[in-house]
Amino acid sequence: MGEKTYYVGRDDISVSNLTIFDVDAIVMRRSVLYRSPLDFDFILMPDLSFLQLQWNNYNFGINRKICCYSSVRFSGGLPYHRKNYIVGSKIWGISAFYRPVEKSTEYADLNNVPSHIVEVYGTKRQYKMHYVVVDGPGDKLSEFSDLYFVIKESLTSTQTWIDGRFTMEASCRCGHFNEIGSEALQVLFSKGLSIEAVKSRLKCDACGKKGNVEIHPLYSENTPDRLKHKTAWVSSKGRRYNRERTIPNNPELVRMYENLGGDGRDRVYLGDGAYLSKNGEVSD
Ligand SMILES: [Zn+2]
Repeated sequence: MGEKTYYVGRDDISVSNLTIFDVDAIVMRRSVLYRSPLDFDFILMPDLSFLQLQWNNYNFGINRKICCYSSVRFSGGLPYHRKNYIVGSKIWGISAFYRPVEKSTEYADLNNVPSHIVEVYGTKRQYKMHYVVVDGPGDKLSEFSDLYFVIKESLTSTQTWIDGRFTMEASCRCGHFNEIGSEALQVLFSKGLSIEAVKSRLKCDACGKKGNVEIHPLYSENTPDRLKHKTAWVSSKGRRYNRERTIPNNPELVRMYENLGGDGRDRVYLGDGAYLSKNGEVSD
C-alpha cells in the first residue's frame, strides 16, 4: 500500500477503523513518562516492532505522527536520550497535520474536528486537524488498531481501572489538570459509580466549571507490570530511571517542565545549575 492522504471534512477517514479522533488521541498524546495504557510512544509491540511518536512544528502548522519500525536498538550512552536509540526500517506511519485556525468563522466547525491550543515558537494558537497521511501495509496497521481498540474498550470497564490500580488524570479545557488517586477511584467504583458518573461529577478547581473535563487513565506505582506496555527504554542503567518512576508527580512542576519546552524525555535547565525532569523532579 502506498501513501494515502485523507482531508478532514472532505474524505471519509478510516485508517483500519480508526476515526480522526482516535488518530488525534494517539498522535497528540504527549506522555510525561510512559504513564498510560493509551500512550504509544517508545512502546514495543507484541512482535517487538517499535512505536514512536514524532513532533514537528512549522510556521504554517504542526505535524504529529506515530511510526512503527521493525526494531529498535540501544546504542549506548544515556538511556533516556532518544538519540541513543537506533530504529530499523519503517513499517508504517500515521501522520496528522494541523493548521492554525485563522478566521473566527472557522471556529464554528471545531466540534467536529480535533483541535488543540499549542504553543509554537512562543505563540499560543489554536490548531485544527487538516489532513492525515497513512503509509504502510494494511495488515500491520490493523494489528496496531486492534491493540488500540482492545485497550480503549477495556477502559470502559471500571474493573480494568480497579485491576490496573489506575489513577485518573482529569484535564479541563481551561488548561488546568489534576489527578484522582487509585484508592479514591476504588472507593467510588466499589460504590457502583460508573466512569461516566465520576467524570460528570468532576468540577474544575481553577475555572469552577463542570463538564469541561476530559479524563485519561494513568498507571500508578501499584499498577502490575504485566498490565503495562513494554517500553524500549533500557532498564539496566535503570536504577535511576526506576527511582524517577516512583517519585510522585508534582503537577505544578510537571506543567512547568512542559511550559519550559521539555520534550518529554530530557531535563530542562531551570537556572543556577538546577534541572527539571519530565516528572517534576528538580536536580543538580
Ligand atoms: Zn477549568
